[in-house]
Amino acid sequence: MIVQDFLNSSFFILHLILYLCNMIIHNRYIPTKKFYAINLFGVIFVRHGVHLHAKEINHERIHTAQMCEMLFVFFYLWYVTEWLVLLFKYKDRFVAYKNIRFEQEAYRHGDELHYLRHRKRYAWLRE
Ligand SMILES: [Zn+2]
Repeated sequence: MIVQDFLNSSFFILHLILYLCNMIIHNRYIPTKKFYAINLFGVIFVRHGVHLHAKEINHERIHTAQMCEMLFVFFYLWYVTEWLVLLFKYKDRFVAYKNIRFEQEAYRHGDELHYLRHRKRYAWLRE
């Protein structure tokens, strides 16, 4: 019970911190021209001249929630590993990318702007 309370409060605090400092940085270099934005450790990088819509910001914030659950490092390890497995399966980089569990959750719920308020932990495992 005490451990569960601790986990609940620490997850809440971690989510709150990440929600409050979910910065968007416009720049010339990150990401490459093929992408509109990339989320690196909770900070959203956007190319100059690109305007992010609420749906796209929400997509990136869903990734931040996923990163938080996976303690960041494991998010990236899982993401790359799953992409490689899917690339082997589909033989197409974009199809592999779209089928990563993290991306499926983020794309499926990107237009639900209040999704993060009621999202269940590790929802990407159920996608
Ligand atoms: Zn994404």
